[in-house]
Amino acid sequence: LRTNFSVIQKETGFVNGLIAVLHDNTEQERIDMERREFVANVSHELRTPLTTMSSYLEALADGAWKDDEIAPTFLQVTQTETQRMIRLVNDLLQLSKMDSRDYDLNRETVNFNQFFNRIIDRFELSKSQHVTFHRMLSDTAYYVDIDTDKLTQVIDNIISNAMKYSPDGGNIRFGVAVKENMLTVMISDEGMGIPTENVNRIFDRFYRVDRARARSMGGTGLGLAIAREMIEAHGGSIWAESEEGQGTTIFFTLKVEMDEEGEWD
Ligand code: ADP
Repeated sequence: LRTNFSVIQKETGFVNGLIAVLHDNTEQERIDMERREFVANVSHELRTPLTTMSSYLEALADGAWKDDEIAPTFLQVTQTETQRMIRLVNDLLQLSKMDSRDYDLNRETVNFNQFFNRIIDRFELSKSQHVTFHRMLSDTAYYVDIDTDKLTQVIDNIISNAMKYSPDGGNIRFGVAVKENMLTVMISDEGMGIPTENVNRIFDRFYRVDRARARSMGGTGLGLAIAREMIEAHGGSIWAESEEGQGTTIFFTLKVEMDEEGEWD
């Protein structure tokens, strides 16, 4: 806390007042610290793939390019790292757009279960892993006013994580519950879980429970931070419940605009 005093003085020289201005620096300091931390994180996240690429390119230049077996592998590594950097930069651009509120939500009214089912179908068709999907969705139509591209991105992200952290033979459950005019979406897995004390930090930028492991799976550490921004832009909230070794459930809410009887809430 910083205090500034100003003396109010008349032309005659008489002091007839004193103004004390209290500045709360703690909020500004927190913002500054977060910004510094963010820049440090971005630099670190970019340096890692760049260092890897640099050493592989050096090895190629030193003669590995002549080796029919090694050369393609090394080139593949540099390609993977380049793709990771592209993902990272795209995620950063998206966050920065959301921070500056320089975007519009392209809202349209959709039947949520139908929309959700289509996304799950896409994952079910392309999954290579041994996980079983369970849909716990009712037949009732609930209409929500959403930016479908953004919501698709949110759900894609949550499902990809559920799959990434699922053991072989695991179950992934999809649920939707409606109470009054609030729709809650649940996506749960039987994966490794997240330590209780950190469970809601997974929505922070660059937070990862296990940095090396998450990175080796190709993640940027920004997926859930973007998801949170998007859900909040829709007026909803997002949170997680998890038990280590048991699994994780991600929840988010959306406002229901209309149910199937066409009643507007
Ligand atoms: P990442 O790109 O690392 O997946 P996210 O923002 O999507 O970034 O997630 C942040 C971190 O939250 C992950 O690195 C992981 O540690 C943790 N996490 C997210 N979803 C799950 C899940 N379903 N099970 C266990 N841990 C998870």
